[in-house]
Amino acid sequence: MIDLHTHSTMSDGSDSPARVVELAAEAGCKAIALTDHDRLDGIPGARARAEELGLELVPGCEVSCEIAVGTLHALVYFLEPGCGAFEHELFVLQGQRDERNVQLVEHLSSLGLPVSLDELTAEGGRGAGRPHAAAILMRKGVVGSIREAFDVWLARGRPGYIERPRLAPQRVAQLALASRGVAVVAHPLSLALSPASMHSTVGELAALGFSGIEAWYGDYEPSDREGLAALAARHGLVATGGSDYHGTYKPHLQVGVGRGDLDVDDGALDELRQRIPA
Ligand code: AMP
Ligand code: ZN
Ligand code: FE
Ligand code: FE
Repeated sequence: MIDLHTHSTMSDGSDSPARVVELAAEAGCKAIALTDHDRLDGIPGARARAEELGLELVPGCEVSCEIAVGTLHALVYFLEPGCGAFEHELFVLQGQRDERNVQLVEHLSSLGLPVSLDELTAEGGRGAGRPHAAAILMRKGVVGSIREAFDVWLARGRPGYIERPRLAPQRVAQLALASRGVAVVAHPLSLALSPASMHSTVGELAALGFSGIEAWYGDYEPSDREGLAALAARHGLVATGGSDYHGTYKPHLQVGVGRGDLDVDDGALDELRQRIPA
């Protein structure tokens, strides 16, 4: 078993990088990727714990891209802190996130939703974002769950949403390859495409340099996972997988096993490694 998609306190997970690795070891994972949003600074702590526990730490991150049919999340693997071009782009994204957060709390306040910048920073640290605003609103009794905070206020298209810049997918793929990493399409069903559009979109992303799609996703039904693995095979892409563990921010997903029925094959990581540019 491996898990190629997890989040820590460096972004919007509730467990430290070291703790996420411990949970992976307890679940029986041979390898774990830490894929915090827009940042690599959890990698050293995760790797140190992985070395102690004898499992492989795959360094990575998750970034949002803008594509014609919506917002795409990309997982980028084998990026080390100090990897150059890609990390520089992450620093730009981090600055844009900080600016968005200032606008977000002002906007939420104007809607009568009490979230201050200090509270947001206390909740989320350097990686603070919408999930932390959601947690604050839940603690204050404004909403009953993080899910509800997104559905009613924070999701794109809802009244509390504030836009932030997103990368083009070709830039993600090219910068990843330039930094000797590989890019993978995260949770492809979030795009909510018809089967025909999914097929053509995945083909376009493969042509842009994406190496895989996340078929074995923690929150998907077995039949959807199988369908996505078949789609990956049709496009010559690696079928990867992971839980998208966020701790208390997504309480129904556990490291390694997702909702309980996930078991990503070790071979996915071997295949992905073969896509690293020489
Ligand atoms: P941000 O990067 O601050 O804009 O927050 C985006 C993150 O919020 C995503 O990467 C997810 O982890 C989480 N998120 C986005 N939409 C939802 C949703 N509808 N329900 C729960 N969490 C969400
Ligand atoms: Zn997240
Ligand atoms: Fe995501
Ligand atoms: Fe994620």
